[in-house]
Amino acid sequence: MSEKVISVLGSTGSIGEQALDVAHLHGYRINALTAAKNVDIIEKQVREFKPAFAAMADEKAAADLKIRLADTSTKVLGGVGGVCECAAANNEAIVLNSIVGMAGLEPTLTAIEKGCKIALANKETLVAGGQLVMNKAKEKCIDILPVDSEHSAIFQALQGMNSKKELKRIILTASGGPFFGKTKDELKNVTVAQALKHPNWSMGAKITIDSASMMNKGLELIEAVWLFDVEPKDVDIVVHRQSIVHSLIEYVDNSVIAQLGVPDMRIPIQYALTYPERFVSPVKQLKLEEWKTLTFDKPDYETFECINICRSAIEKGGLCTAAVNSANEKANELFREGRIGFLDIARLVGEALENSPKVNEYTLADVLETDKWARSFVESRV
Ligand code: NDP
Repeated sequence: MSEKVISVLGSTGSIGEQALDVAHLHGYRINALTAAKNVDIIEKQVREFKPAFAAMADEKAAADLKIRLADTSTKVLGGVGGVCECAAANNEAIVLNSIVGMAGLEPTLTAIEKGCKIALANKETLVAGGQLVMNKAKEKCIDILPVDSEHSAIFQALQGMNSKKELKRIILTASGGPFFGKTKDELKNVTVAQALKHPNWSMGAKITIDSASMMNKGLELIEAVWLFDVEPKDVDIVVHRQSIVHSLIEYVDNSVIAQLGVPDMRIPIQYALTYPERFVSPVKQLKLEEWKTLTFDKPDYETFECINICRSAIEKGGLCTAAVNSANEKANELFREGRIGFLDIARLVGEALENSPKVNEYTLADVLETDKWARSFVESRV
């Protein structure tokens, strides 16, 4: 068997570092690494993994990295163009995209165009430009393998399916985040520090806030619609506080298949890289008797409005989901900066959806234009 080659986009982040753990364990060759600004971490990674290419989205950081790596043979690139060049540097490589936000969209499209298999953690890619990504993947016969734990669970549960007609519904599990059970009144004055305390997962700041607002589950609903080619009405959500059942599917005979495991992203990361094979992983074994009780609740859609905003956006289609995604990216950032309150996130994203452009077919330029519009729309309402 030929050596496995991987490029990790967003290698300095939570998923990126865990992906490199998995790559190290299995002796995969790293072709390219990218980040935005964190030169300290990427320099260490380049020295350890010796990729042919590295890129920083930030041009100043790229110039700094170039100087630091002058004694190595790694070619350092800069800007969005540099990240895209890394994504498409080797068509034999699996491109694991763990960039945060819709900045991941262009590198994903570039890698698919080049013919690379994609392991996708960057859900915003599908939320902002699902139609473009899935059409391009179909045209180029490219597999998009889910890294998000819920979508990996669904993908794993679907492995025995004979025909699409057998699938009745997808059930996404949600931890409920740090504010499960709270009322809107109690959420009015929550702080950034409280929102960043996720009960089960250690993740990057943006997704942790998305989990607190349950926007993350709304984004995942849209991600599931694109990845598994289902209608939004066929995706349900259930709150499961322990994050042991990572998601489920229901077949037409009412048989329900779930994937379980301890909450550790290295399982879905590894499965995306080794699919269809399975290998020993560094993850702890699940001992059900230690958990005793697994609970399942209906989400509180009135308090956590972001889920239904996302459902409504994907039902409307076109650029609505791009608008919702970018409005959320901006609102999430403003909340972390202390410039808006927690409940303003849903309010601003909802207002952006009401005002978003109504088109069905779109191009990458339209998505980028919508991104600019949604960010300045949110800024103007603060
Ligand atoms: P982090 O914030 O930890 O890492 C983000 C990575 O993206 C960093 O390498 C960062 O570089 C890079 N980056 C940031 N902005 C840009 C940009 N404009 N252009 C290029 N690169 C950029 O995020 P996570 O690892 O938590 O999440 C990454 C993605 O995976 C998200 O889409 C998230 O929703 C998804 N995901 C994450 C999970 C998790 O457990 N963390 C679980 C499931 C999905 P730098 O360090 O230099 O800023």
